[in-house]
Amino acid sequence: MEACAGRRDLIGITGMTVIILGLILLSLFAAAWVHMCLSAPKGKRGRRPVPDKERAEIYARKLSRMLQYDTVSKPEYNVEDLKRFRAFQGELERLFPQVHARLECFRLDGNLLYFWKGKSHDRPLVLMSHQDTVPAEGEWKYGPFSGAIAEGSVWGRGACDTKCSVMGFLQAVEELLEEGYEPEQDLYLSSSCTEEVSGDGCPKIVRFLQEKGVRPFLVCDEGGGIMEDPVPGVRGSFAMAGMMEKGMANVHFHVSGNGGHASTPLRGMPVARTADFVHWMEHHDPFRKRMEKPVREMLRRLAPYGILPVRYVFSNLWLFGPLVAEVMPRLSPHAAAMLQSTIAFTQIAGSDANNMFPKEVILGANLRFIPHQDMEETLGLVEKIAAKYGLEMEVVSAEPSTAVSETEGEAWELFSRVARETFPEAPVCPYILTGGTDARFYQDICPHVYRFAPVVLGPEQKAGIHGIDEHISTDCLPGCVDFYKNLIRANR
Ligand SMILES: [Zn+2]
Repeated sequence: MEACAGRRDLIGITGMTVIILGLILLSLFAAAWVHMCLSAPKGKRGRRPVPDKERAEIYARKLSRMLQYDTVSKPEYNVEDLKRFRAFQGELERLFPQVHARLECFRLDGNLLYFWKGKSHDRPLVLMSHQDTVPAEGEWKYGPFSGAIAEGSVWGRGACDTKCSVMGFLQAVEELLEEGYEPEQDLYLSSSCTEEVSGDGCPKIVRFLQEKGVRPFLVCDEGGGIMEDPVPGVRGSFAMAGMMEKGMANVHFHVSGNGGHASTPLRGMPVARTADFVHWMEHHDPFRKRMEKPVREMLRRLAPYGILPVRYVFSNLWLFGPLVAEVMPRLSPHAAAMLQSTIAFTQIAGSDANNMFPKEVILGANLRFIPHQDMEETLGLVEKIAAKYGLEMEVVSAEPSTAVSETEGEAWELFSRVARETFPEAPVCPYILTGGTDARFYQDICPHVYRFAPVVLGPEQKAGIHGIDEHISTDCLPGCVDFYKNLIRANR
C-alpha cells in the first residue's frame, strides 16, 4: 500500500515538473513573440529607382573600353606586364580627362592613388577597387576581353571584379568636377594592380599614406554589393557591407610511402591514408560554430524582411542563437562559412605511373579562419587530425582574420545613410566577407573599412566572378556612380 502511495507521489511530482517546465517554455516563446513584434515589425522597402537608360548606356560604353584591356595579374610583373597596365591606365586618362587633369595622381609601380584636396582635411575618404583581374579561362559566350554590350549587360573579365567600381568612382569624380563641385574633405581614389594575387600593391599605397600622416575617416572597398536573398527565408535585395575578412592559409599535407609495384597492393598506402583524412574532415566538420558580432547584426537587420518563422527566430537570437548556428550551415554553405573556420581540399598529386604506388602524396588545401577559432587554433587542430592519418602538414602561407569594423559611430552612420538614400529598395546590412580583398591592408590605418561595391551582384554575377561569362547589368551602373557621388558630397 505504502509503495503504491509513494509511486503516486512520484508521478505527481513528475507531472508537476512537466507542467512547470511547459509553462516556462510557453512564457519564453510568448516573450519571444512580443519581442519580435516590438523589435522586428515587418520590414518596408523603398521603391527601386527607375533605370536611367541614357546614363546606363554612357557608363556601359566606358566600362566596355576598360574591359578590352588585359589586366590579368601575376605574382611578379615584368616590363611587358607593366606595359599592359600602363595601356589600361592610358585608356583611363582618355575616359576620365577631368580627373587626370585636376587630381594629383601617384603611380606606385602600376598601382594608382588619386588625391583630390578638400576644404578640410580631418575626415579623409578613401574609395577603392582593384584594376587587376584573375585569368580568363574556358569558353566564353562573348570574348573575355571583348567588352561586349549585349543582353542588357557589359561582358568581360573584370566586369564585376572590379572594373565596374573603378569606373564608378572615376566617373563620379569626373561628373563632380564638371559640375564645379569642390570637396569639403580630402578624397583619395585607390586602385592596386595586385589584389588578385595578394600582392604588395595595396600595402605600398597604404605605406605611402601612412608616411604622409593620412588617417582615413572611412574606406569603401569592393567585397559586398547589392545582393539578392542573402540567407534562406529572407527574400529581396540588400546592400550587404563586409565588416571583416576571414583569415586564410594555404597548406600542403605530405604522406610518405615506400613506393612499390601495384601488382601486390598493401593496406594503408599514402593515397588511402589521404583519402581517409579527407573523408573524415568532410563528415565530421571539427570547427566550432558561433555567431560573430557582424553575423548577429546581419540576422537582426534581416529579421524584419524574413518570412514569419524566420522573423520570429532571427529577432530572438537570445533564445534561438545556438539553434540558428546549428541549422544555418545545413541550409546554405555560404552561411556556414560565416559561422566557422573552413577547409577546402584543392590539389592532389601522387604517383606518375598508373601501376606504381607513390613515394609521396601531396594534398593541397585552402583554409579560412573565423575570429573565435583563428589561425593558430584552427591550424593546430587540423595538424593534429592529419597526424592521426600519418599526414604531415606544411603551412605555405597564413594570415589571421582582420579586425571587425564598427557598426556604430559617425562613419557607419554616414556610409549606411548614403547607401539607404541611393538604394531605397535595398536595406543596408553588415556581413562577414568569406573571401579576401585589399581592404584588409587599410585596417592598420582606419577602423571604418566597409567592403561594398555599389552594383547588383545577383546569382549570375556571382557565378561570373572568377568564373566564365563575367558580366554586369548596365541598368545598375548609374546607381554605382550616384552612390560614390553621394558619399563624396555627404562627407563634410
Ligand atoms: Zn576577385
